[in-house]
Amino acid sequence: MAYDSENIFAKILRGEIPCDKVYEDDWSLAFNDINPQAPIHTLVIPKGAYVSWDDFSEAASADEITGFVRAVGHVARELGVAEAGYRALVNIGANGGQEVPHMHVHIFGGKALGPMITKT
Ligand code: AMP
Repeated sequence: MAYDSENIFAKILRGEIPCDKVYEDDWSLAFNDINPQAPIHTLVIPKGAYVSWDDFSEAASADEITGFVRAVGHVARELGVAEAGYRALVNIGANGGQEVPHMHVHIFGGKALGPMITKT
């Protein structure tokens, strides 16, 4: 799947639409989810143009991957959820329920989150 530079997170990265920024460094941007599913629900995205975890893990440089993984941990600590625990989640592609085609990690926290997947 080719990267769509008009996706909403690309627009946030270009500053074309606002976000509730939590953290930014050379590799990553973190902002609060617009439709939170937990008391804390923050998204961490790489600054590079990667569609998904699949794309990122294959095509990103070692520096990008290291910077991004460190940013996810840093953001969790900055949000104050690291000690009590939290969930980091990545939706990938159609079966994964990915809605925005720019790689992102969800950080959920602020309460006991319950089972990982609800049976349907
Ligand atoms: P996913 O289903 O993993 O692709 O998740 C996409 C997430 O992006 C959802 O949780 C949305 O609520 C969130 N989202 C969509 N648009 C925005 C936005 N403009 N600012 C912040 N979060 C957004």
